[in-house]
Amino acid sequence: MLGRLTINTTQFCNLGCLYCYAEGGSYGGKPIHLSSKTAIEMLTGIAMRYREINLVQFIGGEPLLNLPAMRDCCAALENLVDQGILRRMPNIAAVTNLTLVTDRHVALFDKYHVNLTVSIDGPEKIHDLLRPNKKKQGRTHTKIIRNLLRIKNANFSYAFEVTYTRLHFEHHITIIDLLRHFSPWKPAGIAIVVAALPDGHPLGFADHDKIRTVLDWQVDAIGYCLNQLAIGRIVPYGLFLDMIHVVMSEKEFTGDFCPAETSNLAISADGKIYGCHMFTNQEEHELAFNNNSFPSLHGEDDTERATPDFLSETPAVIAHGKHRKLPSKTDFPECVDCWARQWCRICVGNMAIRSPGSPAPSWDSCELNRRSLQLILQRLPRSLKELSDGVPVS
Ligand code: SF4
Ligand code: SF4
Repeated sequence: MLGRLTINTTQFCNLGCLYCYAEGGSYGGKPIHLSSKTAIEMLTGIAMRYREINLVQFIGGEPLLNLPAMRDCCAALENLVDQGILRRMPNIAAVTNLTLVTDRHVALFDKYHVNLTVSIDGPEKIHDLLRPNKKKQGRTHTKIIRNLLRIKNANFSYAFEVTYTRLHFEHHITIIDLLRHFSPWKPAGIAIVVAALPDGHPLGFADHDKIRTVLDWQVDAIGYCLNQLAIGRIVPYGLFLDMIHVVMSEKEFTGDFCPAETSNLAISADGKIYGCHMFTNQEEHELAFNNNSFPSLHGEDDTERATPDFLSETPAVIAHGKHRKLPSKTDFPECVDCWARQWCRICVGNMAIRSPGSPAPSWDSCELNRRSLQLILQRLPRSLKELSDGVPVS
């Protein structure tokens, strides 16, 4: 089974976010739309090899700018299920700036229960400074709120994704402030991700003390979620939910920092395959279908044979051209002796942005992982017990 497949429907974007790692949506390439023909060919190739995809997620640019590709991909997935190529319909999702929603988009989201991840950076003043309209430099927050009100009672869920920058920090906005700010909307999730920016970027945190303060705020937010859990309230903070998920899952140690190239693949707008959308247009991370890997459509054990693990006998995708191996925990002596290595997750795409050419875990990522995991391992059982006993945490 493939965990997540992202499909980049377009490299155009209508916003000009000040921290965009994707260079305005184009990932350093030409701004192009994905054609429905290419999308369906790629989807079919992936479906035949994996037979099951947990999540298909549309991304961009701004994916809503290419509604025909989204619509044709959803219909193709249905066809693949009808033909018995896919065992079940994947969950479908889209990451959007939610500024361009029409009735036709809403109808599609409704039909396929498309879960939206809405990129929004918090209070209006901060958001409008960070995520302006590309052409008119206009404000976008009001538009997003208007569209959120429109979809609030619809048949699909939405989550928020905040990119936390130095601007938030300078306005003394903590992670807990943002969780409180978004909670009244009752979203399915609130991901608050510290912007991955190259050294010297004005929205980054070059200063060690500032990085440490933000890290403390992230760990405080984990404590806040545990306190809320003890009184029966679930705060859907992305980092908190992800960490509980890894702690509860009983996966064997593989050395992977994240799912890129193993259970995560990406189709780019020009029809290429990568281990993650964050590597789009980077030749050294391009993959290709393995033409020797066509698992039987009738056998029951074929998903095992179709894993993309480069060591397996019949990988579904293989290295293409000058492929460069992604960093692994087995490459770093400090990981080999680290107690958190079983559970720690670090985005290798972010590593590559922060240290181009020699991606490696940064001290703050390690400390965030270890401190958050420690808190969850120590306090989760207590919070759950207090919840069942009905005793609030002081
Ligand atoms: S926390 Fe840091 S040192 Fe420990 S396993 Fe993760 S990346 Fe390696
Ligand atoms: S590189 Fe980052 S975005 Fe891509 S799969 Fe890994 S964690 Fe997710």
